[in-house]
Amino acid sequence: MGKAVAMRTIRCYLCGRRLTVSMRAMSTTCPGCNKAIKIEDMVVKTYVPVVELQTCGRIKITKRGRIAAKRIQCGDGITCDGTIEAAIETDGDVSFGPKSSWKGKTLQSRSIKIAAGATLLGDVKVPWIRPEPAGEKNKTGTKKTATKKVGAKKVATRKTPTARKKTTGTQS
Ligand SMILES: [Zn+2]
Repeated sequence: MGKAVAMRTIRCYLCGRRLTVSMRAMSTTCPGCNKAIKIEDMVVKTYVPVVELQTCGRIKITKRGRIAAKRIQCGDGITCDGTIEAAIETDGDVSFGPKSSWKGKTLQSRSIKIAAGATLLGDVKVPWIRPEPAGEKNKTGTKKTATKKVGAKKVATRKTPTARKKTTGTQS
């Protein structure tokens, strides 16, 4: 009914600028960095090898889904029932299902939920808040945001008590 367009506020995953967009928009140009950014929600159902997976929306990885990337940047959070091999950076929440797994350099998110049976390998930094862009720093008065570092060991104990940060090899 009607043509009222629902809007939502998002943050550019590249520069941190806040902007308001239509709920139906799939992409837009960020007024902060003038780059095209994606807004759409994504569902990963198969093996998806990419360099970077970026969206201001949500990312869902189904049981058979697998992402192998250097980095995932995401606005609204990630729900993972499959496999992620990538550093994760999201303003939203991350949720791992019982048979899911994550391996990466760092996982930064507002909050994290880990079901028993999930396997996580890497540094988890939660809660994490995306730094404000340079122009907005004074407005909000935020300095460098302190992130509480959660030991990877603690997080990984759900499956393997001896799991520790992998020190050999590099993420590619
Ligand atoms: Zn931007």
